[in-house]
Amino acid sequence: MYNIVADYHTHTRYSHGKGSILDNVEAARRKGLKRIAISDHGFNHICFGMSISDISKMRSEIDELNKRFDDIEVLLGIETNLISINGEIDIPNDYINAFDIILMGFHKAVKPYSLCDGWELFAKNGLDKLNLFKGKKLRYINTQAMIRAIEKYPIRIITHPGAKIDIDFRELAKAAAKKNVALEINASHGFMTVEYVKIALEEGASFVISSDAHVPERVGVFDKGLDIAKAAGVPAQRIINSQEYELKGY
Ligand SMILES: [Zn+2]
Ligand SMILES: [Zn+2]
Repeated sequence: MYNIVADYHTHTRYSHGKGSILDNVEAARRKGLKRIAISDHGFNHICFGMSISDISKMRSEIDELNKRFDDIEVLLGIETNLISINGEIDIPNDYINAFDIILMGFHKAVKPYSLCDGWELFAKNGLDKLNLFKGKKLRYINTQAMIRAIEKYPIRIITHPGAKIDIDFRELAKAAAKKNVALEINASHGFMTVEYVKIALEEGASFVISSDAHVPERVGVFDKGLDIAKAAGVPAQRIINSQEYELKGY
């Protein structure tokens, strides 16, 4: 039903993946993909975020692979972290243009922009499990933080929306549709859910199905994501890494 031609969300040893850039690219070629992004975790991820000095190393490896292979295009991406309630992300301004594609996600174990952001965004969401802060206000803060980030920065994809954070799906989807930001259907952990995808469809959002591979063998493995898209009735033309989307040139 869907012909997925690119995987924009893959990790390597530059964060906490197991393989090299070359390993991921070889795996993508074996799967017949025509494009792959290397999108390791952002700089503020505690213990395993990329470091600024990795950018130039990664870029030269990627340049070399793009010269070596003519059947695949390799992009330098990043899975940047949301780090403040005002929508700041963990890419210093001088480096925003260093990437071919920017993905943004909410993760815990991330150094916040300020202590206050740490409390609002990470502590409260962390304590959510105890039901201490659950509720409309927290959901509103989370949703606004994400929307501000896509309004401020050239983010192309929001990774696994709804995972690890309570958000107002309709509001986020509305804003994403307006800014042409794709919402990810993650084939590793199954976020977004079918229910969320249906809401986003109604709001006119576009989607991307990603492997979120942390080992090379998982690159280009989309099954769980395809099942969710199918169950929600997403047309192929709304999925930015499908052949149908690319052919129509949306
Ligand atoms: Zn993630
Ligand atoms: Zn990831």
